[in-house]
Amino acid sequence: MTDQFGREINYLRISITDRCNLRCFYCMPQQPEHLCHADILSYEEIVRIARLAASLGITKIRITGGEPLVRKDCAELIAMLKRISGIQTVALTTNGTLLEQALPELCKAGLDAVNISIDTMQEAVWHRITGYDKSMPNWLDLLHQCICNGLNTKVNAVLLKETRTEWTALAALAERLSVDVRFIEQMPIGQGKSSETENAQAVLQELRKQCPDLHPIQICDAGSPARYYAGTGLKGRIGLITPISHQFCSRCNRIRLTSTGQLKPCLSYGCSTDLRTLLRSGASDEALLSAMRDCIYQKPEQHCFAAKTDKAERQTMNRIGG
Ligand code: SAM
Ligand code: SF4
Repeated sequence: MTDQFGREINYLRISITDRCNLRCFYCMPQQPEHLCHADILSYEEIVRIARLAASLGITKIRITGGEPLVRKDCAELIAMLKRISGIQTVALTTNGTLLEQALPELCKAGLDAVNISIDTMQEAVWHRITGYDKSMPNWLDLLHQCICNGLNTKVNAVLLKETRTEWTALAALAERLSVDVRFIEQMPIGQGKSSETENAQAVLQELRKQCPDLHPIQICDAGSPARYYAGTGLKGRIGLITPISHQFCSRCNRIRLTSTGQLKPCLSYGCSTDLRTLLRSGASDEALLSAMRDCIYQKPEQHCFAAKTDKAERQTMNRIGG
């Protein structure tokens, strides 16, 4: 369906847990207060919402978190979502630490695409960013495995001052493999308010020193927030996601379901529609659909990151799903 500004909304991001094995400093507090099990939607509740969302025109679903792979039986949920009529793509966003082990069952479940968050290629820096004490995955191997399993594979790197010297090394992943590497400006949500983002335009300038013909290209995915660039010698593309320096709200095609069943029409605002209460009070499909329609229709025209407003989102990113 379209919202009040004529944007077609066809993409639903679903956060299935607030929990994560990492503590990326821009996303999650070191000692978070976790939601309890009863607060979180069951897979059956999620599937019911997804089925209704499909009837409103949602064709693409992304599973996110927290870290989605810390929740038991994530692959089963993916298989259930894949069976919903009208859902063409089910994708996953993950920090990659548990992916290798889960890959066979995720692929068997019919997963179409994966975005892996790789902010750095250096193990010591990764430990500092994530606060994690186990080994950093071998990113090249992991990406290679995803591609070999037929997954549409992308890399997401948040632009941090700690990794300013690594933009070229991260972009080189798109030289070695057929993956898109997307640089994302850090958003002032939750922990992300405590430091400033690097500007994505600076990435382009830096990358053009190695790859002078890096040039913008048109892509078919009209709702993608990324602007893509191709260059000689690159198998994949370079993407810039610039919520801060270059707003893309007029093309936004997404809504979000948090792990507690709040339907959020915009990442930056705190407003949401409480579908969990409706679900658990025995609401009919018609009542749920009506609440979802209203929420989608009222999607704000643009984000409020630059504005000082008491309507801004106060939750941390791990609770919303990015
Ligand atoms: N744990 C998974 C992961 O890290 O990919 C999925 C959840 S995480 C919240 C989803 C995405 O949000 C990740 O790519 C992460 O880098 C990004 N993210 C988290 N906090 C952010 C912030 N303040 N600004 C921009 N992106 C952020
Ligand atoms: Fe966990 Fe992902 Fe947040 Fe990092 S970005 S703390 S991996 S949820």
